[in-house]
Amino acid sequence: MDPLFPAESEAFRQRLRTFLDENLPEGWSGLGQLPTDDVLGFLEQWRKVLHEHALLAPSWPAEFGGGGLGHLESVILVDEFAKRGVPNGGPNDVFNIGMIGNTLLALGTEEQKAHYIPKLLSNEHIWCQGFSEPNSGSDLAGLACAATLDGDEWVISGQKIWTTYGHLANHIFLLVRSDSSAPKHKGMTFLLVPMDQAGVEVRPIRMMSGDSEFNEVFLTEARCPKENVLGGVNNGWAAAMTLLGYERGEAAAVLPIRFREEYDRLVRLARTHGRTDDPAIRQRLAWCWSKVEIMRYLGMRTLTSFLAGRGPGPDASIAKLYWSEYHKEVTALAVEILGAAALAPSGRWPSNSIQCDDAGAPEDSASWVGTFYAACGGTIYAGTSQIQRSIIGERILGLPKEPA
Ligand SMILES: Cc1cc2nc3c(=O)[nH]c(=O)nc-3n(C[C@H](O)[C@H](O)[C@H](O)COP(=O)(O)OP(=O)(O)OC[C@H]3O[C@@H](n4cnc5c(N)ncnc54)[C@H](O)[C@@H]3O)c2cc1C
Repeated sequence: MDPLFPAESEAFRQRLRTFLDENLPEGWSGLGQLPTDDVLGFLEQWRKVLHEHALLAPSWPAEFGGGGLGHLESVILVDEFAKRGVPNGGPNDVFNIGMIGNTLLALGTEEQKAHYIPKLLSNEHIWCQGFSEPNSGSDLAGLACAATLDGDEWVISGQKIWTTYGHLANHIFLLVRSDSSAPKHKGMTFLLVPMDQAGVEVRPIRMMSGDSEFNEVFLTEARCPKENVLGGVNNGWAAAMTLLGYERGEAAAVLPIRFREEYDRLVRLARTHGRTDDPAIRQRLAWCWSKVEIMRYLGMRTLTSFLAGRGPGPDASIAKLYWSEYHKEVTALAVEILGAAALAPSGRWPSNSIQCDDAGAPEDSASWVGTFYAACGGTIYAGTSQIQRSIIGERILGLPKEPA
C-alpha cells in the first residue's frame, strides 16, 4: 500500500488551502463551532460558494457544471476539506452528487445528463433515495412498490420508508416493480420522479433523538414521464447496484480524519471528567486509538487502489463494517465517561445523525449522546453489518454462499 500523491498534485492542494483560507469565516475551527440551528443555513451558503468555484463535483465534466478535473483531485479535495472540518457539499449531496449524479453520468442518456446534472448541482433539484420498503430492506429485490405504463407516463403506487431528507427533497429516485411475472431481480425499473405532485405524500418519522431526518413516502398513482427511466426498463437492479457502489465506495480519505478528530475529543472528555487514571477507561481508550489507526491503514489501502484506477469493490464492505461497529463502541465509552450527565443531556446536539458529530463540536453531553444514537443507525444504513459480513465471506474470502 502506497497512497503517495504525485508531486504535481501539491499545486492543487495549495490552491484548495488558499480557497479555504479566503472563503471560510475568520477564526474557523470546524462546523461544530456553529450552533446546531445555524448549520443548515451555513451549509446552504457554503454549497453556493463551492458551486460558483466548480468545486462541488470536481471530477465531473465541465460541460455539465463539474470541475473537469480528475479523480485524484477529488480525493485531495475531500482530504483538505475534512482537515479543515468543513463538508464538501450540502446535506443532500450524498444523494444529489454521491448517488444520483454519479449514476446519471454513468448510465444516463445524453438528454438526461443535460437536463438533470446542472439542476442537481445548482440545487434546483434536491434528491432523496426511495429504495427501502417496510418489507424490503436488506432483501431489496423483494420490493413491491409497483409501476405500470399508462400511455406516455409511468403510474406508481406503493410505499417507501426510511427516506433520509425526503422532507427537504423535490425529486426521488425510485426502484419499483415493473414486471411482476419476471424473476424478482429482472422485473425492476429505476425511475426519476418529481415529488411535487398529488400522488406523493411524505410523512416524517420521529427518531429517538427527537429529530425527524427520515420519512415514509406514500405513492398513490404518482406519475412521471415514460422516458424517466435510468438504465433501461426492467434493468433497475443493475442501475441500483451501480448507485450503491458509489454509496459504499467513497470516503476512504475522509473517515480516518473524522474518526481521529472524534477520538481526540473523546480523550479530552475523559480528561475533563477525571477518568484518565482509571485503568479500565485507559485500556478502552487505547483500544479505540488502535481501531482508528487501523482505519487509517484501511483507508490508505482503498486510496492506493483508487489512485491505481480500480473501482470500488467488495473491500468497501470491510471499511463499512469496521467504522460502524467501532462507532457503537466508542460512543458507548463516551456515554459511560459522562455517567449521570448522559441521562439529562445538555448543550449542543449534533447537526445530523450520520457518523461523527461536526468537527470542533464542544464537549457537551448532548453531542456525545446524540452521536451515540446516530451510531446505532450506522450498522443498519448502507447495508447492515450482517449483510457486509456475508459479502466479505462470500466475495472476498470465497466462503460458501449463505443459504437463501
Ligand atoms: C439512519 C438510516 C437512514 C436510512 N436512509 C435510507 C434512505 O435514504 N433511503 C432508503 O431507501 N433506505 C434508507 N435506509 C434504510 C436501510 O437501507 C435499511 O434499513 C437497511 O437496508 C436494512 O433493511 P431493514 O431495515 O428492512 O432491515 P431487515 O433487512 O429487515 O433486517 C433486519 C435484521 O435482519 C438481518 N438480516 C436481514 N437479511 C439477512 C441475511 N440475508 N443474512 C443475515 N442477516 C440478515 C439484518 O442484518 C438486520 O439485523 C436508512 C436506514 C437508516 C437506519
